[in-house]
This record gives sequence, C-alpha cells and structure tokens, in this order.
Amino acid sequence: MIIDDGELRCINCGSRFEPDPYLFNCKKCNGLLEYNKDLHINWSEIASRTTRVWKYRELLPRIENPISLDEGGTPMIRSNIFKNAFIKFEGANPTGSFKDRGMTVAISVAKESGAKSVIVASTGNTASSAAAYAARAGLNCYIFLPMNSVAKGKLAQVALHGAKIFEIEGNFDDALKIVMELTKEKKLYPLNSFNPWRLEGQKTISFEIFDQLGIPDWVIVPVGNAGNISAIWKGFKELKQLGLTDKLPKMIGVQAEGSAPIANAWLSNQSSPKFIDSPITVATAIRIGKPVNWPKAWNTVKESKGTFLTVSDEEILEAQKLLARIDGIGSEPAGAASMAGLRKLIDQGLIKNDEKVVLIVTGHALKDPESAMQDFNITKIRKDEKIIL
Ligand SMILES: *Cc1c(COP(=O)(O)O)cnc(C)c1O
Ligand SMILES: [Zn+2]
Repeated sequence: MIIDDGELRCINCGSRFEPDPYLFNCKKCNGLLEYNKDLHINWSEIASRTTRVWKYRELLPRIENPISLDEGGTPMIRSNIFKNAFIKFEGANPTGSFKDRGMTVAISVAKESGAKSVIVASTGNTASSAAAYAARAGLNCYIFLPMNSVAKGKLAQVALHGAKIFEIEGNFDDALKIVMELTKEKKLYPLNSFNPWRLEGQKTISFEIFDQLGIPDWVIVPVGNAGNISAIWKGFKELKQLGLTDKLPKMIGVQAEGSAPIANAWLSNQSSPKFIDSPITVATAIRIGKPVNWPKAWNTVKESKGTFLTVSDEEILEAQKLLARIDGIGSEPAGAASMAGLRKLIDQGLIKNDEKVVLIVTGHALKDPESAMQDFNITKIRKDEKIIL
C-alpha cells in the first residue's frame, strides 16, 4: 500500500475499501469507485505556490514524488463570441489535453506501487498523455487504439514518446475489452477511465476555475467516457465541503449526435443509457459507445441540475471554426463541442446572456491537423507572379 490516506468508496452501494491501486470496481456490487479523503487546506496559504495541479496537493492522494510535467494552470480566456463565456483552454497542457492532469496522478500511483509497465486503450489523447508520462517515469507503455481512427497528431505523440502501439480491429470499446483482459494478472497497470486516481487529478480544473473566476453559473463539458465531467463536479463539491463557497455551478455534458448514449437516454427520460456499437463523429476524442463512467456523470448532471445535450458534427466543426477565427483559440473537434453546446443552449433559451459560463475546451487543434485543415486554401505564387491579396 502506498496511498496511506483516504479510501475508495463505491458510488453504487457505498462500500468502503482501502486505497488499493489495483482495485477499480466494488468487490460487492462491481460499481465504480471514487477516492475520498479528509479535506484540509488553507486556500490563502497555497496561493503563492508555483506548481499547478500539485498546487492543490493536500486535496490529492498523498504521493511522495509525483511524476509531473507541471501540468494544469491552463488559461481562462473571455470569449469574444459570448461576453459572459469563459474558455478554460485545456489544450495548453503539456501534451495538449486535460488528460495530463489525471495522468500525473495515475502514473505516480503506478510508479509508487512498483509497476514496470502501463497499458491503456484510448481514442488518442489518453495515449499521448500516458506515453509522455510513462517516458518520464521510466515505465514501459502499451497503447491499444481503435484501427484507423486516431487523429494524426495524437499518433505522432505516442510514437515520439516511444510507446508500443497496437491497433485493434474494431472501435474503442473493443480495444478496452482487450486491455481489461490483459490487466487481470496485475503485471500491467491500467490507465483507463475506470481508474479513479486519474479523476482526482482532473478535479483540479474546478479548483483553477474557482481561483481564476469564482463559481460560474454553468460549466459545459464535452463528454466521451464521462470521467472528466464527473471529476470537475467532484472538485466543485469539495470546494463547498471546504466552506470556500456555497454556490455550485450547473453542469452540462455535451455529446456528439452519432455517439450520444448518455445524452439520448437523458433527453428521452430513460433511467440508463442504451450503449452504441458503432459510434460515429468527427470528434474522435468523444467517439465512445459505452461510456464507463456514465453513472458518475449521470449523478453529476442530476445533482447539479444541469442537462445533457447532443450537437451534430456540423455544429461541432462550425464551433471549432468560430473559436479559431473569433477567439483565436485552436481546438480539436471534441474540444469545440462545448462551444457548440453553448450556442445551442443560448438559442434554446436555457442559458441566458447574462449568466456566467465556463466552456471546457478539452484539446488542442494540432491534435487533429486533418480536421483543422478542412477549410484550407493556399494560393501558390510562381516566381515573378503578381500577388493579389
Ligand atoms: C478524453 C477527451 C474528452 C472526453 O473526456 P471523458 O472524460 O472521456 O468524457 C473530450 N475531449 C477531449 C479532447 C478528450 O481528449
Ligand atoms: Zn458497491
């Protein structure tokens, strides 16, 4: 045992367990686990710290020597598109997505628990992040990707950081199944979304929002496996438990139309999602048919009195372009789903113009150069040709 504080608690039946790094599901009911510890922090005392995610270390699992790339501390940028919308630009993390916030914790847990190798199924960004942090930790890294569907920038990062790449015939969920099989023996440490330690790092998004802006009325999050929206909500609730705020934001989860099991269930008043075998969307980072963390995300939206919604690929690409051309922010398609969602909800009247909204823009434009270059014109000039601007 290396994590000597806190406990893992089943979100389904409430059973409590010692914080075993290899325990990912409740031993009684197989439910998802959540890490919790006694919360103590002096917010004004930590204000001068120069670390980012680990600035909030009192609220994170106790790790002696974190494997860190000084992730987090991302910009909060007021949007030109809607004056009360603020963009939390997670593309500014070391490998270009919020996955780094969780990876610093999960890889540290893997390293301290004595693992020599890590393994993960990914639509891309988890792989980029795992590859970089595994490299820094000196761990072998095995990456399982759905065949021919990972954006080029993400693949390039995995290759550059020296991870071993497998492409699996099938989609993300097929790749995840293989990873689950391979991790049964506890020789390879799994970094997938069911890993509760990752979510602990990701909850620092809320702490930073609180530090940069206070508590907004709404927070809009692109949803794939549904871990991030759950982590962000957990972070806000902890701020309240600490007595730092009474107010909590309403949480909105955005899914792509062709890949929206949670949003579709929510919008049609079902009690649980109907999983999708072949999800499709240009936003490959949220192309997930069987979101592992759906029960956590469901609770998040219910407790916070938010909603789920779907946006079309056209709306996502339009939002990506607006972010790029009006706000100067380069996002991959999945990251722009939050802006697509905001536009829709303002149209529908759910969000009022004077309400403060934070959009989580989850990943950087260079992750997916092909999508960034869809609307692309180059004028070639021969020697001595006259240039018309
Ligand atoms: C992983 C990812 C998401 C989805 O996050 P979940 O925690 O799986 O819901 C959204 N956008 C980007 C860019 C991502 O990398
Ligand atoms: Zn349980």
